[in-house]
Amino acid sequence: MTEIIDGNAVAAEIRAGLADGIATLADAGVTPCLATVLMSDDPASQTYVSMKHSDCEEVGIEARDYEIDPEAPADDLYATIDDLNADPSVHGILVQMPLPDHVDEREVLRRIDPAKDVDGFHPENVGRLVAGHPRFKPCTPHGIQKLLAAADVETEGADVVVVGRSNIVGKPMANLLIQKSKLGNATVTVCHSRTTDLAAKTRAADVVVAAAGVPEMIDGEMLSEGCVVVDVGINRVEADTEKGYELVGDVDFESAKEKASAITPVPGGVGPMTRAMLLWNTVKAAGDAEAVDVEL
Ligand code: NDP
Repeated sequence: MTEIIDGNAVAAEIRAGLADGIATLADAGVTPCLATVLMSDDPASQTYVSMKHSDCEEVGIEARDYEIDPEAPADDLYATIDDLNADPSVHGILVQMPLPDHVDEREVLRRIDPAKDVDGFHPENVGRLVAGHPRFKPCTPHGIQKLLAAADVETEGADVVVVGRSNIVGKPMANLLIQKSKLGNATVTVCHSRTTDLAAKTRAADVVVAAAGVPEMIDGEMLSEGCVVVDVGINRVEADTEKGYELVGDVDFESAKEKASAITPVPGGVGPMTRAMLLWNTVKAAGDAEAVDVEL
C-alpha cells in the first residue's frame, strides 16, 4: 500500500504545536506580528498574501498588510522595508515575489533585517544555513523535512535526488538534507535542466524531491520500487473545470503511486507545509530570532 502523505494533517499539527510558543509570548506581552508587502497586481500573488493573513489569524499572529503600487518607484518599497525593519512591533517581514522588473530583487532581499527575514532568503541567513547554524530555514524545504519526519522517512544515509536548483526550493532543500542532523545526513544529488539522463538519477534514488515547475515530468518509469516521492510542483494546466484549469504537480501521481512507498499529493502535500512553516518562522522571530534553528 502506498502511503499518501497528508500535508494538510501535518500542517495542522504544526499550527497546533505553535500555540504553546504563542501563549508563552503572550505571557510576556508579545503578539507575533508578520508584515506582508505586496507590489503586484497579479491575482495569484494577491491570493497567496491573503492566505498568509488568514493562516496568521487562525493561530493568533497579527498580520499587517502593506500594498505598493506596482508602478511606484523601487524606493517606495525600500522605504517601506526600512520602516518595518525599524518597527519593534513587527517581527517578520515578507515581501511577496515576483516583483516588478524595475525593482532589484537582490536589493530587497539584502535590505530586510536578517532577524526579521522569515522567508530565510537574506544572504546572511542563506550563509548560516549552508554553514549549518540556520536562523530561519526557508519554508518549503523546512516543511518537506517535517513532512518526511512525520511519515517516518529516514533521510540518514538515504540517496536523495532533488530536481531543481532554485534559491527558494532546490538549493536550500539540498543544503538542509546534507546537514549533520537527524533530518539531514542524506547523500544528495541536485538535478536541473542541464542534467543528463535525469531518469537514471531518479531511478537510483531512495527519495525524489521534484521541484522543477514542469507538469507531471516525473513518472513511474523514472522511479524505483519503494521510493519516497515529494512533489513540490504547483502547475496550472488547462482543464475542463469551472476555472478552466487545474493544479498538477511535477509528478505524474497515478504512475508514480504504483512505484512509491509514500508520495505527497498536489494539492494537499507540500503547499500547506510551506504556509505552516512561515508561521513557525514568525513565532521564532518574535521569540528568539537568533537561536540556531536545528530542531530535529
Ligand atoms: P524555478 O523555476 O525557480 O526553478 C526550477 C528548477 O527546475 C530550475 O533549477 C530548473 O533548472 C529546473 N528544471 C526545469 N526544467 C527541468 C527539467 N526538464 N529537468 C530538470 N530540471 C528542470 O522554480 P521554483 O523552485 O520556484 O519552483 C518549482 C516548482 O515548485 C514550481 O512548480 C512552483 O510553483 C512550485 N513551488 C511550490 C511551493 C509549495 O509550497 N508547494 C513553493 C515554491 C514553489 P535550471 O536551473 O537549469 O533552469
